[in-house]
Amino acid sequence: MRQKLIVGNWKMHGSQRLVKELIQGVDAGTEELSDNVEIVVSPTLLHLGLASDICKAGRIKLAAQNLHNEPQGAFTGEVSAPMLAEYGVSYIIVGHSERREIFDESDQLVAAKFMAAQSSGLTPILCLGESLEQREQGASEKVVIKQLAAVIEAAGISALQNAVVAYEPIWAIGSGNSAQPEEINSIHKLIKDIVQSRFSSLDLHGVIYGGSVNIENASQILKEEEVDGALIGGASLNGEEFAKIANIFNELKEL
Ligand code: PEP
Repeated sequence: MRQKLIVGNWKMHGSQRLVKELIQGVDAGTEELSDNVEIVVSPTLLHLGLASDICKAGRIKLAAQNLHNEPQGAFTGEVSAPMLAEYGVSYIIVGHSERREIFDESDQLVAAKFMAAQSSGLTPILCLGESLEQREQGASEKVVIKQLAAVIEAAGISALQNAVVAYEPIWAIGSGNSAQPEEINSIHKLIKDIVQSRFSSLDLHGVIYGGSVNIENASQILKEEEVDGALIGGASLNGEEFAKIANIFNELKEL
């Protein structure tokens, strides 16, 4: 069954106090939610241990924002998938545009991180998406196909079985301008069609959308048939708003 997911990416924000408050707020606001909607938060690596202790008894799952593709070694400052697994992390965001752009992560490195996550039993959330320039050149689909193909080539199509894909147009991230619901739906369908054309019995865990999702636009975006959830940055730093978006999603999909 396809997973429904609402994921909060806290990026390099937070303090021990804020992490506690946010998790408690999200927990309280999602008490009535159906079990079919997975709630995931992604604090900084430094706050994962604290978050893991708080989340242990509850329903909130954890995602890491990054990992190294090797399991161990002389890589000062890095953290590996087996280490994250030990902290009770369930998901890992890979290929976020901030990592691709600011930290120069190539499609090949993203694929290596994707495989490293899976080899420790963690589910990668693979981010794909075009820049504004690429969009203006009409190349959105081409970019998404290329980024997806790099992972399929390295990991094999069956690896997509245990993965979530996040369509995140770069121009929509943190800009306040989300993509139009119909555009989002059509890219999500493209991603699912590509995967299914290569492996007919394979159903992705889900394709979620990220890029300026907030309480105002959530229902328009999340009601689309091919949208299996959201990856939320800015609005996830408000526990109440994040929980409300999860509740909107829950009602829309009549789970
Ligand atoms: C993100 O960083 O993945 C993201 C979607 O951010 P925002 O919701 O702030 O656009």
